[in-house]
Amino acid sequence: MATILDGKQTSEKRLETLREAIAGSGLHPKLATVIVGNDPASQMYVRMKHKACEKVGIASVGVELPADATTRTVVDKVRALNRDGSVDGILVQLPLPSQVDTGRVINAISPEKDVDGYHPENMGHLFLGKPRFSSCTPTGIMTLLAEYQIPVAGARAVVAGRSIDVGRPMAALLLNADATVTICHSKTKDLAEELKRADILVSAVGKPHFITKEMVKEGAVVIDVGINQLEGKLVGDVDFEAVKEVASAITPVPGGVGPMTIATLMENTFRSAQERACDRVL
Ligand code: NAD
Repeated sequence: MATILDGKQTSEKRLETLREAIAGSGLHPKLATVIVGNDPASQMYVRMKHKACEKVGIASVGVELPADATTRTVVDKVRALNRDGSVDGILVQLPLPSQVDTGRVINAISPEKDVDGYHPENMGHLFLGKPRFSSCTPTGIMTLLAEYQIPVAGARAVVAGRSIDVGRPMAALLLNADATVTICHSKTKDLAEELKRADILVSAVGKPHFITKEMVKEGAVVIDVGINQLEGKLVGDVDFEAVKEVASAITPVPGGVGPMTIATLMENTFRSAQERACDRVL
């Protein structure tokens, strides 16, 4: 029976430590969120991020733009936040509506305030093995693995999914931690065979019950990033009930990776505030 990797408890512990660190720092970190349109899931994620800010003592400001906003409007807003000295972190909630050029918006974020780590400069640092900000979901997963003392160096890690926000940075972080990494995606041949080799299996595909017991090696650590609706319930990518019988450790959905993502965003925002304060002194 697998150990349940409790992201909720771990994130609460980290948020409390962070709250104390912020209170004792003399700094007043501030996160700005930008949301375009009124997608309910995006609105919920942004609300959760603002709530976490409140919990740890990070000020937050929310910019809301209409669903028909142009790339120009979003970029201008981001640039205004870049210039605003009181803002330490900028988070643009993805996905953006189809008329908005997501790449241009991300490129417009000042790399020093890019607490989500999507800017090419930050991605570059990450892939060079010297991350500044690395995206919150994979970074939160690495924190969770460390919290449960799961060895990564030398492990065979297989990541299903190659998105910019999860799959690719996840693979880079695992590689930086000396795992032997395979990235699988929609064109991968013999996916089950690849997955079955994993000591650490990370699924970021976005399909309910996509990872079955037959795809998981006995004793593997299974990290489920997926957030899917199935018959009115929130489920991950992994067939949790069956897979927990073969895995040595597994994240639940909800209460696994999701809370770690938010805790990491808070940590990144405070780190940005610390670095910006340091730059002002130098
Ligand atoms: P995405 O749609 O950008 O990427 C999905 C990836 O899955 C793609 O790279 C694709 O190649 C791969 N894929 C699709 N079908 C496949 C198949 N049959 N075999 C192998 N690979 C396949 O999604 P994303 O942004 O990476 O998100 C993935 C999931 O994680 C979603 O459910 C999303 O809601 C969730 N998510 C959760 C968090 C969190 O904090 N828990 C954060 C981000 C995303």
